[in-house]
Amino acid sequence: MTEQSVLHVVNPATGAPITSLPAATAEQVAEAAVHAQEVFDSGVWSALPPRERAAVLLRLADLMERDAETLARLDCEDAGKPITECRTNDVPSAIESVRWFAEAADKLYGRVAPTGSDALGLMSREPIGVVAAIVPWNYPLAMAAWKIGPALAAGNSLLLKPAEATPRSALHLAALATEAGVPEGVLTVLPGYGAVAGAALARSPLVGALSFTGSTATGRRILTDAAETNFKRVSLEMGGKSPQILMGDALGFGDELIENIIEAAFLTMGQNCTAGSRVLVHWNIADTVVDRLVAAARDLTIGDPALPGTRIGPLINRAALERVAGAVDSARAAGARVLTGGAPVDIHPGGLYYPPTVVTNAPEGSEVLTRELFGPVVTVQVFDSEDEAVLLANATDYGLAASLWTRDIDCALRLARRVQAGVVSVNSYSEGDISTPFGGWKQSGFGGAEKSTAAFEHWTREKTVWIRTR
Ligand code: NAD
Repeated sequence: MTEQSVLHVVNPATGAPITSLPAATAEQVAEAAVHAQEVFDSGVWSALPPRERAAVLLRLADLMERDAETLARLDCEDAGKPITECRTNDVPSAIESVRWFAEAADKLYGRVAPTGSDALGLMSREPIGVVAAIVPWNYPLAMAAWKIGPALAAGNSLLLKPAEATPRSALHLAALATEAGVPEGVLTVLPGYGAVAGAALARSPLVGALSFTGSTATGRRILTDAAETNFKRVSLEMGGKSPQILMGDALGFGDELIENIIEAAFLTMGQNCTAGSRVLVHWNIADTVVDRLVAAARDLTIGDPALPGTRIGPLINRAALERVAGAVDSARAAGARVLTGGAPVDIHPGGLYYPPTVVTNAPEGSEVLTRELFGPVVTVQVFDSEDEAVLLANATDYGLAASLWTRDIDCALRLARRVQAGVVSVNSYSEGDISTPFGGWKQSGFGGAEKSTAAFEHWTREKTVWIRTR
């Protein structure tokens, strides 16, 4: 057996093996695409009245609710995510996505063009056919569901590749889809390696649209693969280096402010695309904010992610631990101050724990300020004017999310306009809800395939039918 023929799923909290399963080969991906095309062409799903597709997907949402605890445990064990996060965030978000898009399935109206009386121009939305989704390990179930919901509601046949480390919740979801009545071949989960199964999807001539969530480097590769093959439509949801801007009056929000900053920085151990990893604070409240941030970071319970009280579990793998530790060490060596955290902690001999870390005085251009670390590290930078806050906020290649805190509505609106990010959250840390589109600017991506009816833009294509009337 070759190194890439088997996936080894390991619990990052302990290093203990969980399971091994065959990894999809490029040939298997190609076969799955041919089969998905046949199923699409048969109309067994694509030609169902949308209302009937909706009924099946609503059943799927109900089954996910029935198995919510199982789904939560699978992501907790495979990704090391705190179980409470899985229960209260990931699984409900996944269920909501399937249910919301099911309910939207029969509400997608076409358009009629403003022609003269001698013609009728009808624009209708149609499914694309075979489509693909490639998802990361940090929100395995939720990212899969964000794509399954709209792709299936629109009538496509979807090939989904989960991340190497976290295939089990997607496989469970596929079993639930079958139980709900999704016809065989409409949702195919292909656990496999990125460079093999992922690349085969990106290069497949049958895949008409692909939605990717993951790193910028992989997104670049996928876009190239699409361009070199069939110009499949690609949507990219990639990394971030999101700012949290605290204006001079932000302490007026009390404990809620610090709780939100901590949540934004340390949710899923900072392994979150929208992690608020850069706190930008007005000088007149900087000392107080830093003191309270450090105290709150020290208060977070670190340990076994399977325990309900745990806020900080392990990082996903050793490479991640080394990347995070290396960036903090080099910032420290360059003169940054590490006020709490800053070195791996020995919670379990096989575990990969890095504590919540607060860094100030990082030199301009240092890795902790510019690179997406994907770990529990937050930097603090001080500004003294709105212009400077905007300059710092936008000083990154990314543009996924931002949050800002002030009671001054004029200031909030000015900042919200000037910050370059796909989602700007005012007086909370939030990505919005299922009714608002989610997508990045700059190198955080494009294509906006997630959430809201905007997702259908990616998963359907418009056809114009021109009818001459006499
Ligand atoms: P990754 O890019 O390494 O992997 C993501 C997926 O791409 C995996 O399924 C992987 O197998 C696959 N892949 C890898 N190489 C491939 C290739 N050559 N062709 C096709 N597929 C390939 O990213 P990751 O480490 O799993 O996830 C972390 C990244 O995801 C972070 O950068 C994070 O910011 C980003 N992310 C973004 C969002 C968002 O919505 N913007 C959400 C979650 C995570």
